[in-house]
Amino acid sequence: MPEVLKAPLVVEFPFTRSLGPVQSAFLTGLRERVVLGVRTGDGRTLVPPVEYDPVTAEEIRELVEVAPTGTVTTWAWNHAPRRGQPLDTPFAWVLVRLDGADTGLLHALDAPGPDAVRTGMRVRVRWAEERSGAITDIACFEPYDGDPGQPTGPAHDGRFDDMVTGIVAPARLDYVYSPGRAQSAYISALSERRTVGERCPSCRKVYVPPRGACPTCGVATSEQVEVGPGGTVTTYCIVNIKAGHTANLDIEVPYVYAHIALDGADLALHGRIGGIPYDQVRMGLRVEPVWTEGGRYPDHYRPNGEPDADYEMYKELL
Ligand SMILES: [Zn+2]
Repeated sequence: MPEVLKAPLVVEFPFTRSLGPVQSAFLTGLRERVVLGVRTGDGRTLVPPVEYDPVTAEEIRELVEVAPTGTVTTWAWNHAPRRGQPLDTPFAWVLVRLDGADTGLLHALDAPGPDAVRTGMRVRVRWAEERSGAITDIACFEPYDGDPGQPTGPAHDGRFDDMVTGIVAPARLDYVYSPGRAQSAYISALSERRTVGERCPSCRKVYVPPRGACPTCGVATSEQVEVGPGGTVTTYCIVNIKAGHTANLDIEVPYVYAHIALDGADLALHGRIGGIPYDQVRMGLRVEPVWTEGGRYPDHYRPNGEPDADYEMYKELL
């Protein structure tokens, strides 16, 4: 039994969003060191502001300025800050009800330790030195024992020079991923350019790639079966949208992405079809894998010259 693999897996992408009038005013305000809330129909002030009343669902647009000082309403200590968090030393996550607001704003509180934090403590905004119109324009909160800020916020038209109308928020998910026993064996076989699936002891279907269990019968699979290398295109699509700019996705469009049933497999896997004009790919086309130097899986599949498979042979694999 080969060892079960594991490896770091990072999924990250820039998430671009437009802001709309309320968020645009809020974030531009932060750049100008002004905290804006929005007034609801029943006279409450929400910070951070939202576009629709959470009770009545009515559109709300009446902006008010609140103070950069407030009260901690609840908190949790963060012992081990992670990459991208507001502070790189241990800090408290806090909900702060700013003076003039009726709701809590989530942010970080710079404090020497959990003993220095309590519900009800007074805090104020520490502004970031460089501000661009983002929630990070508030660097964090810090303890404050001065006068309370203005208790009721004055109206604000929400207009500033050079309004921020959109933001790019980097999203990042950071895992250690283990594919488990079955897929570890599958990946290990691929390193020898072999494709190995697993057969269900009950229904006898061969799953490629194997997941370690038969989803139909609910039993574990363990009998390994080598399949391919030849296969049949069961269905396909023509891709007309270029994906990203990373090296392994830099493929000229249009190209064909297909479901391919490898010989001996009862489940189609997917791969790119090359070596044939995109408009000549068809259901039943017989293909073989093409490996590139150092590749850990087939780069693509190409016609292997055999006559097309009969529909009856693969109709159960669509
Ligand atoms: Zn089964």
